[in-house]
Amino acid sequence: MHLGNVLAALLSWVSARQQGGLWRLRIEDLDPQRSRREYAEQLMRDLEWLGLTWDGEVVWQSKRAEVYEQYLNQLANIRENRGIGTGSLVYPCTCTRNEILAAQAPHESDGRIVYPGTCRNKNIQSSKAAIRLIVSDEQIEYEDRVYGHQAVNLATHCGDFIVRRSDGVFAYQLAVVVDDAEMGVTEIVRGRDLLLSAAQQLYLYRLLGFQEPLFCHHPLLVNEQGQRLCKRDKSLEISAMRKKMTAQEIIGLLAYTMGLTPAREALTPEQLLPLFDWNKMGREDKCPYI
Ligand SMILES: [Zn+2]
Repeated sequence: MHLGNVLAALLSWVSARQQGGLWRLRIEDLDPQRSRREYAEQLMRDLEWLGLTWDGEVVWQSKRAEVYEQYLNQLANIRENRGIGTGSLVYPCTCTRNEILAAQAPHESDGRIVYPGTCRNKNIQSSKAAIRLIVSDEQIEYEDRVYGHQAVNLATHCGDFIVRRSDGVFAYQLAVVVDDAEMGVTEIVRGRDLLLSAAQQLYLYRLLGFQEPLFCHHPLLVNEQGQRLCKRDKSLEISAMRKKMTAQEIIGLLAYTMGLTPAREALTPEQLLPLFDWNKMGREDKCPYI
């Protein structure tokens, strides 16, 4: 676990516990190339060491492919929606990344790739195709707990997006929506880098008829130059930090950095409960005093 992951875990734990809610743990191990059992076990040991206790059974995404398949079929069978047309809402796509880059207008400066819909009206029969979901040309609106009103048009933000990859692995967007709905998740806390992807998820919530959760995106941890803390920086991994700091010192450091406490002092997650308030945090990214 990286310090940034701990921040998201801590804020979601405190917010849930303060409301008397449950805190659920899910291991997002869909990608067989990047997921190893020992990473998940290390993560659980780190959470326990920090005092971030979870409720109920751990959910492993790698065991849920059949469930995702069911919901993908449900999307494939939605025939009429939002004026998009009468065909299926999903279609196979064989475009490579380079083909998509070559086809899109060079208008995005932030590195986003907007899929231009190349395969939407093709009749592709290939077991190696990715599956894309047709998006509608409308504003998806939502209220973020921290960043307020958001409106994203998926047609210009990302275009038709992938729900199953060409290697058969279900996409993050579909899997997390299905899991959160089935696990009864009512509040999602995570870094503001995912603020706009909530629009893709809400689109799926609405298509599948799920109850929408409240999104709470938090400011990110940055260095003194304002750059996001590097995930590859080994010194900010909990396995390295716990050699020099106690769990309570790490919790206290994060709480103080986020403006939740008036002074930097060691705290257990429970001791943060009466001090926690989303309104204290603001929207600015924060540089931790390591
Ligand atoms: Zn395509």
